[in-house]
Amino acid sequence: MASQTSESRPKIALITGITGQDGSYLAELLINKGYEVHGIIRQSSSITTGRISYLYEDPKTHTAKAIKLHYGDLTNSNCFVKIISSVQPDEIYNLAAQSHVQVSFDLSEYTADVDAIGTLRVIDAIRTCNFSNKIRFYQAATSELYGKANEIPQKEITPFYPRSPYGVAKMYAFWIVVNYREAYNMYCCNGIAFNHESPRRGETFVTRKITRAVAKIYLGLQEEAMWMMLQCDKPEDFVLATGKTHTVRNFVEAAFVIVGIKIGWKGSGVDEVGVDEESGVVRVRINPKFYRPAEVNFLQGDNTKAREKLGWKPKVTFQELVAEMVISDIELMKKNLEV
Ligand code: NDP
Repeated sequence: MASQTSESRPKIALITGITGQDGSYLAELLINKGYEVHGIIRQSSSITTGRISYLYEDPKTHTAKAIKLHYGDLTNSNCFVKIISSVQPDEIYNLAAQSHVQVSFDLSEYTADVDAIGTLRVIDAIRTCNFSNKIRFYQAATSELYGKANEIPQKEITPFYPRSPYGVAKMYAFWIVVNYREAYNMYCCNGIAFNHESPRRGETFVTRKITRAVAKIYLGLQEEAMWMMLQCDKPEDFVLATGKTHTVRNFVEAAFVIVGIKIGWKGSGVDEVGVDEESGVVRVRINPKFYRPAEVNFLQGDNTKAREKLGWKPKVTFQELVAEMVISDIELMKKNLEV
């Protein structure tokens, strides 16, 4: 899988959402593969490039000056025509989104504008620039599309039933990508990613390195899959999932196991964690204020197609990830106490 074009120049990638969790890891992955990476950032009164500044701190990428940032916004089609015509990328990864499910209930119209129509704006700009045959397009689809789906585990052909304005907007994006692929023979595909967490603190450089390393192992694989999807002979949609399901409750239990503290669950209430005075056992409660107006069913991705066609597989177990996250936080707190 070459990162050079037939004219022997480095491949060029354009990433929307480069300042986000996934965008920053994808940028690093592509730089390491020898790509020239361009990213789109929004105008903001505060600094939003914190997650990618390390790419410039890394001497390897700093000297190569491998990243170039451009101002743009998914709510504005004009900027995409300008950026795509000047950058002329080989691959576009559309990761930008209003990605918060809960917020999408409050900002439903905005979420539709960014996540649904925004995707159309980017993909249509490729056509406007007459690059339909040249540019390969990746769309960050989501397991939230399955929402209330009856089938478990969910695979590429499982019917969608989104349960939030975010899921509904992403469903439009999914189908517009399929439609442009079929109508205009464009190389564009959807990666239906299931939830992925990353330990992110960033207060001290050392800890940041530890947590980033963990996230990189876990997330990097997902980014690798995004890239692999754009290197295939023909464009297709893939579920990107570990194949396992873990609830927040599982996460809490696994985290306490790491430190050897016994816990018990206690109805619902406003305090999430407290110690039972008599037994000394830590009592954990669920705070109902965090429930959404409509919830998804049991989400579990079937990654068979990605395993078979891409040769992709997740490597880090849930327990390993939780252990690394807890240990890195303990280290951070110890360090803060020393100061
Ligand atoms: P983040 O929320 O961390 O990042 C979102 C990115 O989109 C940020 O760079 C943000 O910029 C940018 N953005 C938001 N609105 C706009 C806009 N109007 N114009 C241009 N850029 C905008 O998301 P993740 O990295 O976690 O996720 C990446 C993609 O994958 C998203 O599309 C998400 O919906 C999808 N996804 C994520 C999953 C997960 O578990 N993380 C699971 C499945 C899908 P800024 O920094 O300025 O806010």
